[in-house]
Amino acid sequence: MFVTSYIALGSNLDEPERQLHRANTTLKSLPGSHFLKASHFYRTDPVGPVGQPDYVNAVVAIETVLSPIALLDALQAIENDHGRVRSLRWGARALDLDILLYGNEIIETERLTIPHKEMLWRNFVLIPLADIALDITLPTGQSLKNIIQDINGNGVERLSDCLIMEK
Ligand code: ATP
Ligand code: MG
Ligand code: MG
Repeated sequence: MFVTSYIALGSNLDEPERQLHRANTTLKSLPGSHFLKASHFYRTDPVGPVGQPDYVNAVVAIETVLSPIALLDALQAIENDHGRVRSLRWGARALDLDILLYGNEIIETERLTIPHKEMLWRNFVLIPLADIALDITLPTGQSLKNIIQDINGNGVERLSDCLIMEK
């Protein structure tokens, strides 16, 4: 059965916009999955170690038959293919792909926390998510509309148009 999943993309190395376009292209041919929508791209202020370049962030929606862990494996393979080197926590990276939501599931395992544990505090995730999923309710029962009504857009600047795929 297909489950809708929202994936956050981020890059601040090696031409971030190109990294995200390439990642979208790869995500469009993810096994067992259909690409549904992509948000606008946003230039965002870096969070974490100081002195990093700005980020480009976006969120995409897919539907997939992959299990959460198989999806994580696939996303990490894509990160690796983009030359991701894991060094400093929250340090600069060519590509970060995080699973924000997987259907209505709540998952807490060593490798996976879903909903993503930081998503409610990150404008650079919530703003692009709202582009493509304003009407969703999180597994916690909170509506996205409610969550975003109090946030401001500081440090998050829109770069490009949304992409909605024909099914
Ligand atoms: P953050 O998770 O705060 O955004 P990060 O994305 O920089 O930080 P990574 O180095 O990409 O962190 O991932 C560290 C580990 O987080 C991964 O090896 C993965 O097992 C784990 N992880 C837990 N939950 C998730 C999730 N929802 N999506 C992606 N990775 C996750
Ligand atoms: Mg991340
Ligand atoms: Mg990550």
